[in-house]
Amino acid sequence: MHHRIREGLSRIAVAMRSDDWNRAKATGLNPTQLSILDLLEGREAGLGVKDIAFHLGVSQPTATDSIAALERKGYVAKRSAGSDRRAVNACLTTEGRSVLDASGPTDSVAEQAVAALPGYEQENLLLALVKMIRQLQELDAIPIQRMCVSCRYFAPFAHPDAARPHHCNFVDAPFGQRDLRIDCGDHETASPSSRAASWDIFQQG
Ligand code: SF4
Repeated sequence: MHHRIREGLSRIAVAMRSDDWNRAKATGLNPTQLSILDLLEGREAGLGVKDIAFHLGVSQPTATDSIAALERKGYVAKRSAGSDRRAVNACLTTEGRSVLDASGPTDSVAEQAVAALPGYEQENLLLALVKMIRQLQELDAIPIQRMCVSCRYFAPFAHPDAARPHHCNFVDAPFGQRDLRIDCGDHETASPSSRAASWDIFQQG
């Protein structure tokens, strides 16, 4: 079963890579460069090369080359990262943001495939993905993502309303399972103990 699901995910990844190429082609970038712009959006302080490589699952030399290409185009600028003057982060420029705006949203084939599922299957798939991504984080295979389940503003099952049981303390509003975020710009990572406690409640709910 595990192997067959992996095979299925790899087929979906092929379609998603094709989506990425189509979207990148329209911007004159390659998919890795466009992914870097996507990653930097909403991260005002930017990210260092090591973090960018870890997020995208590429080598540091590949990330370095891609950042340099984006810098030459004026889509990314390097800025000092905190008190260590030698540490620099890559940050999105106004020009880089314009490229992102022009590149999306797209009617990707992957999203079309999801849209063909009934609503309850979409919700179950979203939940399964949240759990898988969280497990990958626990294995240190990917960095902590900007998901609700790792956010300090997340209060799982804080309400009796089955349609909207969770609470976001950032916007101070309830929300449902189908609104769980995978990449939220307002996310702030909770402490390890808060994440573990929140995850326990989320799973039991
Ligand atoms: S701030 Fe974003 S990630 Fe955090 S709980 Fe609210 S919606 Fe979820």
